Amino acid sequence: MTVRAVVLREAGVRPAVEEVVLAAPKRGELVVRIEAAGVCHSDYHYVTGELVAPLPLVLGHEGCGIVEQLGPEPDGRIAVGDRVALLWRPRCGRCAACLAGNPALCERGRVQASTGGLPDGTSRLSLPDGGELHHLMGVSCFAERVVVSENAVVPVPDGVPPEVAAISACAVVTGVGAVLNVVERAAGRGILIVGAGGVGLSSVMGARLVGANPLIVADVDDAKLELARELGATHIVNSSRDDLVGEVLRITGGEGVPWAIEAVGRQQTLETTLECLAAGGTMVALGLGSVDTRFTVPLNQLVQRQKRVVGALYGSSNPPLDLPRIFGLYLDGRLPLDRLIGDRMPLADVNLAYDALLSGAVGRGILVP
Ligand SMILES: [Zn+2]
Ligand SMILES: [Zn+2]
Repeated sequence: MTVRAVVLREAGVRPAVEEVVLAAPKRGELVVRIEAAGVCHSDYHYVTGELVAPLPLVLGHEGCGIVEQLGPEPDGRIAVGDRVALLWRPRCGRCAACLAGNPALCERGRVQASTGGLPDGTSRLSLPDGGELHHLMGVSCFAERVVVSENAVVPVPDGVPPEVAAISACAVVTGVGAVLNVVERAAGRGILIVGAGGVGLSSVMGARLVGANPLIVADVDDAKLELARELGATHIVNSSRDDLVGEVLRITGGEGVPWAIEAVGRQQTLETTLECLAAGGTMVALGLGSVDTRFTVPLNQLVQRQKRVVGALYGSSNPPLDLPRIFGLYLDGRLPLDRLIGDRMPLADVNLAYDALLSGAVGRGILVP
């Protein structure tokens, strides 16, 4: 079938809506009609070329939609008509990472990344002239319809709107997941969250949920910081005006914080965040930067102050297990995820959505195909 989709032809050239060809699902795959797709900064790194993937491709990796068709011999887990959130890492269930309960590192995810295909390494997308067209992270949901692996979907319960489900499958499970899966014994102890975009604000909600205190949030945008305060930050710091390290030390009586989450992915913020840690503290790096981003770790802070730096992909979550928990907390009113939703736009406005993202719009832009 033919579908309209946002195609990135080459890095550095803005994407555009095109008609593309979607092949029938193979065994273990599904056709999903997209209801909502989140505009996440990670995608934009592919537009600029800071991150690389096989091109041309269809953009979009935060999606939710309705299952329209099943591949041959379905196993009964998913039915036509189900609402599902799309995962950008499949859970094959067989590789060492999946067996160890860490499907964010599933080997099939690497196959998707290197081939631009679905978990089997082949594409269901092509251009109308027969030219090859790749998936992005096995999702490519800036499109009317997608073919995805049934190992890359999670059912969405009634009462969770599609745009909330879409962002839950990336920004939220990353930001909340980092707090629930990586941060330990946070209740009553300090945490610093650097970056108040979709991932950082999700971490704020997670930190509030587990009772972190003080809950300090830093960003360079006052409107985002105000939202962080409404979502539970006890202290906000505009790091373009104020010295973040000095403020964190002042708030914590000179000690620093035992936990910090860096949700930006830049050298300067990583280095500053590390300085805000108390002795024995841990910095969790969540933000994706360009492929050549590096940062410096002073050896004395690592050894003499016993600081730790850990990375967390997808919040080190197990999305098929963690997403239903997040949906449950949302339905229970304890994760106000609606507050993260920004403007809704049609696919054709994808570049306006990126402009809004780059100019610091508060709330996640949502494309509605
Ligand atoms: Zn994302
Ligand atoms: Zn696996």
